[in-house]
Amino acid sequence: MVQVGVHVSIAGGIANAVDRASEKGCDVFQIFSRNPRGWKIKDLSPEDAGSFVVKLESSGIGPVFDHMPYLPNLASPKDDVYNNSVETLTTELLRCGQLHIPYLVTHMGSHLGAGRIEGLKRIVKAINNAFSASENSVMLLLENTAGTKNSMGGSFGDMAGIIDALDSKRVGVCLDTCHLFASGYELRTPDGLDRTLEDFNSRIGLEKLKLIHLNDSKGDLGSGLDRHEHIGLGAIGETGFKTILGCEKIRALPFILETPIDSRRDDLGNMLVARDLASQSTPAKNSN
Ligand code: ZN
Ligand code: ZN
Ligand code: ZN
Repeated sequence: MVQVGVHVSIAGGIANAVDRASEKGCDVFQIFSRNPRGWKIKDLSPEDAGSFVVKLESSGIGPVFDHMPYLPNLASPKDDVYNNSVETLTTELLRCGQLHIPYLVTHMGSHLGAGRIEGLKRIVKAINNAFSASENSVMLLLENTAGTKNSMGGSFGDMAGIIDALDSKRVGVCLDTCHLFASGYELRTPDGLDRTLEDFNSRIGLEKLKLIHLNDSKGDLGSGLDRHEHIGLGAIGETGFKTILGCEKIRALPFILETPIDSRRDDLGNMLVARDLASQSTPAKNSN
């Protein structure tokens, strides 16, 4: 059985996220612990955090993943944005601790033309600062990007540079299938997926991989387009997802969908398809 879930809303109070995840039949879920579109936030009250923790424990769902809001850019060459980004990262790590959420997902940002070396230095400094200002065991998961211009983290080499420089037990990886595919990594065939995972393993290490964002892609292989599609209806397709969900190296990981909601399908529909494809897929053949 695969562990499947979706991103759920915290509208009306953060504990409501647990109810929404239960109603949808999630095994795992992801949230924004706050409004993802602004810088300013209210502190989490001990009452709200407590009721989230109690509900979560009795729900049997987990692990839960928190996702960083949209505005921060850990690679920004602009000091004001950069400093706000480090502060936001620190705050999110602390909020995860309060909420007993073990993982925080972050993008690596954009160097905005300052260059990859400068971007890498900024990210490493940002994460080190945030770690020392939040002494807990929350693990930060670096999410790969679609390889859009100036974005950091579109290749395993990019990610490895950051992870090696950080050298911290608190760093892991989230791989997004849409972003992987858009940045040129083949996933649709057992051989292609195996090569991609071998590359990941040799540069970063499969033990660092803690989460898969399971999204189909509107853009083709290597298109650089970050446009998510319903599971099986995009360029990765049903056969591709059977390969992914059947792969022995990753099928035990949590899969979280960040797929669209429109007239064709909603979250429930996509979870159903993912579970169905997983049950149809025989484990992909192992390379060794
Ligand atoms: Zn993301
Ligand atoms: Zn994602
Ligand atoms: Zn995306």
